[in-house]
Amino acid sequence: MISLHNHTLYCDGKNNPEEMIQSAVKQNITHFGLSGHAPIHKENEWSMNDLTAAENYISDIEKCRLAFPETRIYQGIEADYIPNLSYSFNELREKLRLQYIIGSVHLVTNENGIWFIDGPAEGYDRGLEKHYNLDFNKAMSQYYQQLMTMLEVEQFEILAHCDKVMMNNRGRFMSNEDPQHLKLLKDTLKLAREKEVWVEINTRGLYKGLHDDFYPGKYIFPFIKEEKIKIIYSADGHATDQITKGYSELDKAIEEYGLKDLVVRPEDIEERMG
Ligand SMILES: [Zn+2]
Ligand SMILES: [Zn+2]
Repeated sequence: MISLHNHTLYCDGKNNPEEMIQSAVKQNITHFGLSGHAPIHKENEWSMNDLTAAENYISDIEKCRLAFPETRIYQGIEADYIPNLSYSFNELREKLRLQYIIGSVHLVTNENGIWFIDGPAEGYDRGLEKHYNLDFNKAMSQYYQQLMTMLEVEQFEILAHCDKVMMNNRGRFMSNEDPQHLKLLKDTLKLAREKEVWVEINTRGLYKGLHDDFYPGKYIFPFIKEEKIKIIYSADGHATDQITKGYSELDKAIEEYGLKDLVVRPEDIEERMG
């Protein structure tokens, strides 16, 4: 079993790297990775503070690798792409000897400021009003533009929770299946395929009760099948009991929609990351 999207106490997780790795070994995960939130040039409560903290996080993982030789343990990062505020992914990769990067957008920027799409809905609504004058279409489009720019300018292996902009929307401003939303999501997925970036199917919203579907949701699974987009399971675990949480629901959906052949296999990971 594979689990590459996981967090620790170095960012907003609940356990240290060793506890996470021990838990993965116990659960018979064969390919396990940690992907702490990379530091950014802006104070916040969820990312690693700076490159020194990130360096300590990496050396913790490197130590654990020696202790658990039967499991493949990868050192990664979940890197935010925020124009002018994030480190270049290649700089992070070199400095931290990363084996993979999960590219993500949680902070959407325009000339008016930064819109935080994660966290409680009140903050989301406030940003929408302040930076976009409640023009949801404009805000949602800006999110996907930022994802696509990230795919164009940065090098990374996995695209994080690609329709997360819809989490706090909850159908209030726009349906997931609105043609304007679908077009942008589909363009993003096609670009990911072109750049050979794997698209994660992230179970966290479901098991946390924050969202009623995976990120991205089942409404886009037929398109993923049709366009042969490569997908990877992800639990976005922030604690030892979340490393594969939601995988059995995802198994069912993958079966139901006939996506099995598109799921990243252990050998794909070994080929790409060692
Ligand atoms: Zn994330
Ligand atoms: Zn994450």
